[in-house]
Amino acid sequence: MNNRLYGNLIFELSQPGRKGYSLPKNKFGQYTVPQELRREKDAELPECDEMTVVRHYTNHSGNNFGVDNGFYPLGSCTMKYNPAIDEEIAAMPEFTHLHPLQPAETVKGALEVYDGLRKALSEIAGLADFTLNPFAGAHGELTGLMVIRLYHESRGDKKRTKVIVPDSAHGTNPASAAVCGLDIVEVKSTADGVVDVEDLKGLLDDSVAAMMMTNPNTLGLFERNIPEIAKLVHECGGLMYYDGANLNPMLGACRPGDMGFDVMHINLHKTFSTPHGGGGPGCGPVGVRKGLEQFLPENSHSAHHAPVPELEKVSVGPYHGNFGVIMKAYAYILSLGKEYIKYVGPLATLNANYIKESLKDVYELPIAGLCKHEFVFNGLADKSTGITTMDVAKRLLDYGYHAPTIYFPLLFHESLMIEPTENESKETIDGFIKVMRKIAEEAKTEPELLKSAPHNTPIGRVDDVLAAKHPIVTYRQILADGE
Ligand SMILES: *Cc1c(COP(=O)(O)O)cnc(C)c1O
Repeated sequence: MNNRLYGNLIFELSQPGRKGYSLPKNKFGQYTVPQELRREKDAELPECDEMTVVRHYTNHSGNNFGVDNGFYPLGSCTMKYNPAIDEEIAAMPEFTHLHPLQPAETVKGALEVYDGLRKALSEIAGLADFTLNPFAGAHGELTGLMVIRLYHESRGDKKRTKVIVPDSAHGTNPASAAVCGLDIVEVKSTADGVVDVEDLKGLLDDSVAAMMMTNPNTLGLFERNIPEIAKLVHECGGLMYYDGANLNPMLGACRPGDMGFDVMHINLHKTFSTPHGGGGPGCGPVGVRKGLEQFLPENSHSAHHAPVPELEKVSVGPYHGNFGVIMKAYAYILSLGKEYIKYVGPLATLNANYIKESLKDVYELPIAGLCKHEFVFNGLADKSTGITTMDVAKRLLDYGYHAPTIYFPLLFHESLMIEPTENESKETIDGFIKVMRKIAEEAKTEPELLKSAPHNTPIGRVDDVLAAKHPIVTYRQILADGE
């Protein structure tokens, strides 16, 4: 911590007897809290004047880094740009004051939002219908797999217990299959990072319920063999599941339904204007192709109901998904419209490729070729400096950039995953490229500077292990340690 006023804890700014605010006089007469309910000692609260409090918190808030402060190239899970206008629309009291148990005829506007979003997602995905109920991507996967299981059972086909999952898949894919009571079979990736069709052929038989694919996959690569894969899986009677968490670069460019997928989920909190991460609310709508609509869980007051009690539960009773997230997605889609939504994917892809090509002589690019919305470097190209991905990420903070995702995916030792999003200007991206090149240069000329970075942030380099093993999270402990 530095010595500036805002570096202190509010408790350390406390002066006995100092006041910043007086409570209004009690209008309702005297009331004394019964003795047995009272504290024995006064609570230890900070006593500060108004300006000290205002400055303390205002200055602290300036230590936050967000997309409103600077470039935020965090990769994986398509951390798309979330326009503030969508938050405003979702916060309109006409919507936030609704109660989920209100009679249907009093919530017609909300129902229109549901129906409008279901139609818009169906068109974007090239599928027949969506349920908006699931609360997250993983929840959507589980719902989708239950729909697939129901489909097979409805045809009297009870031997389909296998789900094929690529080795590059997000951990939730095998987890959802396991929760759904299905067996997971892993299919290998080729050396250039896509599903190995030859390996897949050996896994296909009449026990396959579904094949799950993420596209673009976790390496940001378009799975170019989808048509062949879909044909093979369908021929053996299985269904194709599309993990739509990376839908960002596909928006308006191509549609899972047209590629031969039967069921998919979309993470509204990744692609449609709700920030991902930080534990906030999510929404994982599940879409199906024509002929599977009747297996979807209940949708809204106006829609059909779940075919089995099991799926009714996925929809969590009468509460129709995370409405605020649904509102933001609908506002986002309508504000771009058909005409402009088709630019989102191509622009994100262009930005990612531009950065990749501009830096690949100084950072190691393990998988060459066109990427989608994100790509992975494997640390610096020059390995002789001893500078790690961690050092590069920390040094970026000194230059006012949020670090990219580091040490993920696990396929490489020094992964540095960069996703610029579609809304960044060429000047911003050029600035980032310049700094990344400068850091590569510093790695050779001043490696110590990188190893001890960051230098310009309120807190310097923390010891990762100590911070994880012995986190000090209370005020008292900090004082005790400082004594
Ligand atoms: C984020 C993600 C998921 C899981 O979504 P949650 O909303 O976090 O449950 C699944 N697959 C991929 C590829 C993801 O990136």
